[in-house]
Amino acid sequence: MKIVFATNNKNKIREIQSMLPGSIEIISLESIGCHEDIPETADTIEENAIMKANYVTQKYGYDCFADDTGLEVDALNGEPGVFSARYAGEQKSSEDNMDKLLLNLKVKTNRDAQFKTVIALNIKGEQYLFTGIARGAITIEKTGNQGFGYDPIFRPVGYQETFAELSLETKNTISHRGKATHELIAFLNNNPS
Ligand code: IMP
Repeated sequence: MKIVFATNNKNKIREIQSMLPGSIEIISLESIGCHEDIPETADTIEENAIMKANYVTQKYGYDCFADDTGLEVDALNGEPGVFSARYAGEQKSSEDNMDKLLLNLKVKTNRDAQFKTVIALNIKGEQYLFTGIARGAITIEKTGNQGFGYDPIFRPVGYQETFAELSLETKNTISHRGKATHELIAFLNNNPS
């Protein structure tokens, strides 16, 4: 069985491939000749994941899965959410995004937040969604230098450290993306072709 993972991140492809049985081959966008930017202009994280997976299935005819992630802050009514990557502008700077979020939270007492990842899978004419959520809180200042994106200002529930202070191994076991990915892998392992 061949499934396209609609991402340009080779690390993500390698990581998922290593968790799947040999009968399932993950293929890249590059290897199906998809070199264009896939639109992700929907209003929700779910719809963005679906939009990306459907783009590949409809244009190239492959079974496919795609993921989308956002940081949802309770006191900001779920912002930045689907706009997480470009919260502070189209330059998509993580530093600018974190600075803007810390500023917007300055007067708020509730700093609870969650990361949400949705994976949309198109397989054999059906569509399935897998969701992973990591609850936590936005810290007062940036701490740690591992990870990426909003990791230096997100402290997951049950930990004193931010995601940027935890090892990748620990982050993967509790993270939104780790949880959604495990749901996907369990599904694929239980539904062999
Ligand atoms: P994407 O859908 O994986 O591209 O994620 C959208 C945006 O959310 C990224 O640009 C990051 O800013 C942020 N993001 C996604 N996953 C994480 C994470 O695990 N830690 C911190 N920030 C993340």
